[in-house]
Amino acid sequence: MTFWIEPGGRRLYCKFKRRIRRIYTTKVSLPFTFKIQDTESSSERLVCLVSSRVDYHMEAYWGVRICDVLKVLKQSSIPEELLLKECCQHVDIFSSSTSHDEKYIVLSRPESFVALGPPPRDSYPLLVILKRDTPGTPQPVDMLALISLIHVKDSLCTLPTAILAQYLKNADGSIWYMEKLYFPSGEDGVEQKCVVCQNFPLSRVILPCRHTCVCAYCFRRLKACPMCRTPIKSYFCVCSEDYMQNLDKPGHLPFANWLHNKLTNLHRWIFR
Ligand SMILES: [Zn+2]
Ligand SMILES: [Zn+2]
Repeated sequence: MTFWIEPGGRRLYCKFKRRIRRIYTTKVSLPFTFKIQDTESSSERLVCLVSSRVDYHMEAYWGVRICDVLKVLKQSSIPEELLLKECCQHVDIFSSSTSHDEKYIVLSRPESFVALGPPPRDSYPLLVILKRDTPGTPQPVDMLALISLIHVKDSLCTLPTAILAQYLKNADGSIWYMEKLYFPSGEDGVEQKCVVCQNFPLSRVILPCRHTCVCAYCFRRLKACPMCRTPIKSYFCVCSEDYMQNLDKPGHLPFANWLHNKLTNLHRWIFR
């Protein structure tokens, strides 16, 4: 480490290598998906796209009080349906279904539904739970339910119909908030490349902005996200970074990066 001392001897400056903390994550696969098919859906009829890899059933709660939702979901000992029934206007419990690929399911607003009034509101229009029908005792890490809080467009709040938040509930009662990752726009199914070098795969998610846009090689040279300029606080990886092991092999780096490396090393050698 290099130090600089002020001539008056009052302050000490030091140069240290900036460390950006890596967050270690575990990849899990979700048993369910739930999407809104038509964001212009009316408040009477909502078309959803649902898939599941396990046997499950669906519960739809209309007009759920916001202040009660998280309180209810954190209860691990009592089934949600018993508590949510007390704080919603109407509940529809669908019959059990076996696993299936994506299919459309239409949710219809109950006739007894009382309009929620102008925003700000104290209730969510709709809460949908996809709940696993688990025979026997589930393992603590098994995902039991996908919970989606949904805004449904109506005449007083004309924002498009959208999923406001999604939570996963494990068999041990823990609740996980699902946050979106942001990828550069590109064709579906085509491996996307780092937005800086256009050579290596996207492998790092920058935090706190959650842009997934760079490779490990370019990440080392960045202080801010190249998409939004937010200072980088930490990161995690979304795929293997084996490609970093081949960096020293000739022809693996694009010429511009190779030249940049050489010039950087030369600069360090002259001004160290
Ligand atoms: Zn790169
Ligand atoms: Zn960003």
